[in-house]
Amino acid sequence: MSSKFDLLVVGGGSGGLAAAQRAADYGASVAVFEPGPLGGTCVNAGCVPKKVMWSTASLAHSLADAKDYGFDLDFKHHDWGAIKTRRDAYVAKLNSIYARNIEAKGITHIPENGCFTDPHTIVAGGKNYHGEHIIIATGGYPARPEIPGSEQGITSDGFFDLEERPERVAIVGSGYVAVELAGMFHALGSEVTIFVRYDGVLRHFDDMIREELGDALARDGIKVVSEAVPAQAGNDQNGFFLETGDGRTFDGFDCLLWAIGRDPNTERLRLDKAGVDVDPDGFVLVDDFQNTGTEHIHAIGDVTGRVTLTPVAIATGRRLADRLFNNQPERHLSYDNIASVVFSHPPIGTVGLTEAQAREEYGDIVKVYRSEFVPMYYAVMEHKGRAAMKLITTGENKKVVGIHVIGNGADEMMQGFSVAIGMGATKEDFDNTVAIHPTSAEELVTMR
Ligand code: NDP
Repeated sequence: MSSKFDLLVVGGGSGGLAAAQRAADYGASVAVFEPGPLGGTCVNAGCVPKKVMWSTASLAHSLADAKDYGFDLDFKHHDWGAIKTRRDAYVAKLNSIYARNIEAKGITHIPENGCFTDPHTIVAGGKNYHGEHIIIATGGYPARPEIPGSEQGITSDGFFDLEERPERVAIVGSGYVAVELAGMFHALGSEVTIFVRYDGVLRHFDDMIREELGDALARDGIKVVSEAVPAQAGNDQNGFFLETGDGRTFDGFDCLLWAIGRDPNTERLRLDKAGVDVDPDGFVLVDDFQNTGTEHIHAIGDVTGRVTLTPVAIATGRRLADRLFNNQPERHLSYDNIASVVFSHPPIGTVGLTEAQAREEYGDIVKVYRSEFVPMYYAVMEHKGRAAMKLITTGENKKVVGIHVIGNGADEMMQGFSVAIGMGATKEDFDNTVAIHPTSAEELVTMR
């Protein structure tokens, strides 16, 4: 095996593998350093197993709803261990598909941690590897707060190791992971409390989304404790406890889960040997072309801290390979209008600016359209879910600059609308689109 490669990729997650495969397609010799299972966070402890659990939870909701649709179901209990076994098997299958795919493309997989010894050299397993180009794609890991006892409890990684459902769950954090896991635990029968530092969940989302999700959590009986800055955590005879900065103590939990963001995997890389700079939180600094300050060293994905979503890592990785190995010098990702979904219950889909961001950027020429309604699914049911949608436009031609949706189906709705936004669609374009009836999505093209 030659130890000289056109491209060395440190990290075999979604971004690293996407870049490696695209580069190999162009004929580059590529090695990937990945000591863990291939696929990184998304495949092993993120999007993929999460979506399985979200679907499990959605089924629990459907089973509860079934009675009102005339079904006579004798539903006893949910077997958490059974779905974990199936989920783990699915993830293992994906790991082996990744391994086969990279082998088929002639990519060398080095199952070791790699770190720099100089700007062109990665050492791994006691051997040196020379790369003309090197991509840092080491991702991140779930953070724990710097307080006494934070080693107690689990993070999203530990969620996927749970063999059975905990009865009383405390989740600390207010972002994607907190609300997604809260919805799953609750749907499958746990009593859930979310602890947030300020006044609610998803603080960086549009206000309508925050209010509607807050209401949905309350309707479901998921408690949200506001102004709860973690000060200490622990585990005693009553279970896990959390103390907040203002002196309150919450105890008796079977599971304590930290969901306060992710830290970058940069500590072990010896970036100092390569002249690569990081920000104060350790994220690798890159320009719009994923270049670090060292000419032939690039970084993609969560390790850069820029829009830390799997498809963004993949898109930047592929574009970078196009640029480096297929003579497309201007190829790079625009970080504007990237749609994202929060797999809460109900789900949230969002693309573009929030209303607050749009007003700050464009001022009074912003016009907002809103719709709140009970989706037809609930027409025959006692229990009524809700949906809410917001279309944000700007300028005389009412260019659509933001769409925010919460409600069943929002997760599948947003992809197509993000194409429209990316193409510069106006409110008139939306108005001229014939509705699909009866759907929730039709509200977005019938707003007045
Ligand atoms: P997020 O960044 O989404 O949210 C974490 C939040 O926790 C912060 O915004 C902050 O909110 C709060 N927080 C931060 N520090 C503390 C602290 N010390 N004590 C208490 N609360 C704190 O991180 P997640 O862990 O939820 O998810 C990580 C990332 O993974 C996401 O940002 C997203 O990019 C990605 N992800 C994407 C998903 C998807 O696409 N569906 C699903 C899951 C994750 P505040 O300032 O309001 O306190």
